[in-house]
Amino acid sequence: AGQAQQGGAHRTGNHAMERRRGLLIILSSPSGAGKSTLAGRLRDWDPDIVFSISATTRKPRPGETDGVDYRFLTQADFDARVAAGEMLEHAQVFGNSYGTPRAPVEAAIETGQDVLFDIDWQGAQQIRNSALGLNTLSIFLLPPSIAELHRRLETRGQDSPETIARRMRQSWDEISHWDGYDFVLVNADLAETEARLRTIITATRLRRSQQPGLTAHVLALQAEFEEIHP
Ligand code: 5GP
Repeated sequence: AGQAQQGGAHRTGNHAMERRRGLLIILSSPSGAGKSTLAGRLRDWDPDIVFSISATTRKPRPGETDGVDYRFLTQADFDARVAAGEMLEHAQVFGNSYGTPRAPVEAAIETGQDVLFDIDWQGAQQIRNSALGLNTLSIFLLPPSIAELHRRLETRGQDSPETIARRMRQSWDEISHWDGYDFVLVNADLAETEARLRTIITATRLRRSQQPGLTAHVLALQAEFEEIHP
């Protein structure tokens, strides 16, 4: 009967009543530390991980698509959704409003899917302090140096010099909150950081609290044991 659940309930099919709730995997870092690249790689690694698409009042950058990268909203629309309680968390970042729509997250974790969040320290703090707090895994990425952070922001070529300068000043604000996270990785080598992220996610999924199917499995082991050794 029992079968240990190594992944989400969708992988075993059994024990609908004991389905594991999905994890809220929060990835934060200053701009330019490699967060978006790594989030994309995690999605390729495990297509079952759901990407939380944030709402924002910032203007789309070239190449960004509404509903894919962000939900681009007017300030009035954003504020109305916050007032209606539709945001799991929200914050001001670089003078714009950003927030996580609540409904898609709740739907995903109820079916045992893990959700990945690319949000800042303020959002991470709000989610950690919410009702879903016990179900979060938070990871902070540090750059190898400030010079390297600056170089990465410049070579990205998506932002104006003024924006880059502002983001550099504000990156320290983000870095200063590194100590509120479960895990901290210095992203000196992308491939190595990706491997470490996979390790962290895999290990967290194997926590006893993340495997509700274990009780049934151990009961089955016990029944089998008693049959062999009465
Ligand atoms: P960007 O404008 O470069 O896409 O994002 C700027 C910052 O806002 C990043 O640090 C990103 O993690 C953060 N951010 C993006 N979406 C959200 C969100 O929904 N909530 C919060 N709190 N921060 C967000």
